[in-house]
Amino acid sequence: MTAEIIDGKAFAADVRGRVAAHVARLQADHGITPGLAVVLVGEDPASQVYVRNKGKQTKEAGMHSVEHRLDPDTSQERLLALIGELNADPAIHGILVQLPLPGHLDSELVINAIDPAKDVDGFHVSNVGLLGTGQKSMVPCTPLGCLMLLRDRLGSLSGLNAVVVGRSNIVGKPMAQLLLGDSCTVTIAHSRTRDLAEVVRRADIVVAAVGRPEMVPGDWIGPGATVIDVGINRIEGAGGKTRLVGDVAFDSAAQVAGAITPVPGGVGPMTIACLLANTLTACCRANGLPEPEGLTA
Ligand code: NDP
Repeated sequence: MTAEIIDGKAFAADVRGRVAAHVARLQADHGITPGLAVVLVGEDPASQVYVRNKGKQTKEAGMHSVEHRLDPDTSQERLLALIGELNADPAIHGILVQLPLPGHLDSELVINAIDPAKDVDGFHVSNVGLLGTGQKSMVPCTPLGCLMLLRDRLGSLSGLNAVVVGRSNIVGKPMAQLLLGDSCTVTIAHSRTRDLAEVVRRADIVVAAVGRPEMVPGDWIGPGATVIDVGINRIEGAGGKTRLVGDVAFDSAAQVAGAITPVPGGVGPMTIACLLANTLTACCRANGLPEPEGLTA
């Protein structure tokens, strides 16, 4: 079998197009423009690239985009004061604090200072609790993107065996909650899981979010399974050139799986697309308007 390649780049472009169309309607019908504020503390090069891309795509979707770039030695008080201002600003519907924060700042305290209704990353403890109890919440962007790809490929996920490899707060755990919400039978695997190969082999859906290059070989994948590879790992290839690979050994897995996301071009582009979708959702909720269809969990 040769797997269908799930084109996350094209799907993300479609999501961004749907968001932009909804934004245009909000402006035309209600005079409302969704606003996203991104806060970056310090000069981490990868974070700077992410923040630049987020700003660019926010504007392309017709939204109001604000960037706050703060010095690496910004105090916790200053950062909390800024979040307080953004919480109170009616033109801002989504607030994202780019992680990781410099070591002297308390990430949990900072994230939990964001108004949960504006927490478009879905990391606030209130949103984590709402998701865990099946209530309306803001859903973390990467797992939301994975869920959209899975629904698009499989339709109903009800009754399917899903294995999530990785139990981080930003990917693994919320991913498992979302799959449970769609009535999958969910197993969360991690570094202490016994017989991981056997656990993965039973899955109809495999979501790998580990951060170890090509850790999941093709012979762990059950025939016909749908494989969502969240991992982004930079490895050195021939001639010292670096390239990106996922957590799944793509070539061997693609021989067995029914469908698989590539790296790059799979889950990665979905994350910012879902950030835009979450900002739109937050704006609709704040204004008592219907939420965009197909762009939430
Ligand atoms: P974390 O490091 O926070 O979590 C990794 C998880 O993998 C942990 O739960 C860990 O288990 C588990 N793990 C580690 N080694 C093994 C092993 N040998 N067998 C089984 N499980 C193992 O990573 P993140 O969740 O933040 O990210 C995971 C990957 O996804 C990274 O490559 C990251 O770059 C990528 N990513 C991609 C995004 C995107 O936009 N596409 C967004 C976010 C992340 P334990 O808890 O027991 O230590």
